[in-house]
Amino acid sequence: MGEVRELREAARILKDARSVLVLTGAGISAESGVPTFRGPEGLWRNHRPEELATPEAFARDPRLVWEWYEWRRRLVEACDPNPAHHALARAAMTRPGMRILTQNVDGLHDRAAREEAERLRPDAEQAAAATPLELHGSVLRARCTSCQERVPLTEPLDTSHRDTLPRCDGCRALLRPDVVWFGEALDPAILDEAFHLAEEADLCLVIGTSAVVQPTASLPRVTQSNGGRVIEINPEPTPLTMTADLSLRATAVEAVPGIVAAPRGGAEA
Ligand code: NAD
Ligand code: ZN
Repeated sequence: MGEVRELREAARILKDARSVLVLTGAGISAESGVPTFRGPEGLWRNHRPEELATPEAFARDPRLVWEWYEWRRRLVEACDPNPAHHALARAAMTRPGMRILTQNVDGLHDRAAREEAERLRPDAEQAAAATPLELHGSVLRARCTSCQERVPLTEPLDTSHRDTLPRCDGCRALLRPDVVWFGEALDPAILDEAFHLAEEADLCLVIGTSAVVQPTASLPRVTQSNGGRVIEINPEPTPLTMTADLSLRATAVEAVPGIVAAPRGGAEA
């Protein structure tokens, strides 16, 4: 099938779907300038993410881990949501039955949703529908290591010494980045909702994720075993490519805006 026909086919499947789960990974933010872990810029001072994004690393050297997260926060704050983030936010706001579930910690889906909300002035229900479910948390928030209170990060942190690291206003315990580290469990409430959405979905649209990390990797399978379809958008083949109903070899910005722009139930172009 030619590329244009595949794009049209994907747009048609999406238009006919009553409920849609959009699952995104690092690839959707690549064109915003956020490096993926597996890409050539995934390293920081010769540390692999797997060495820093762990509870053990934080216990051993919280200063080093905070320094890395501050670097990542500055990096994503300097980036902007791209047309794929925006198209998804608009679609989730304007058509019922679409939710965005992301493995990303860069906050770009949320920023796109807030920017679209300023233009479209959605009601509370529409705005909530466009608010992404963040499976792995966000580098734009911290969380208390003791009372679990969450705090948005807006100002630069001083990560020069252990003594200057951020502390909880309530209980004075050390704050940590509000992200899910390797070896940690996902938030059970978000995970439950994710599996519920995958079961209900007529379509699971998987964008920019290598689809190898469990349990997220099984969500498309859940949709398919309940009779729904799976469309993948990724410039490289992934383990999902073989089983997806349609797999588009394209970047997120190339494919997503065109696919989701067609209004639900609108006339065939
Ligand atoms: P990954 O790095 O394992 O895979 C990225 C995928 O994106 C690859 O399959 C690649 O082929 C694809 N890709 C690259 N450029 C693309 C583009 N322009 N359009 C569409 N797809 C493109 O990422 P992952 O599967 O999300 O897993 C890594 C984990 O690391 C995630 O769980 C996430 O928490 C974390 N992470 C997050 C960010 C972020 O927040 N932006 C960045 C790096 C890593
Ligand atoms: Zn606390």
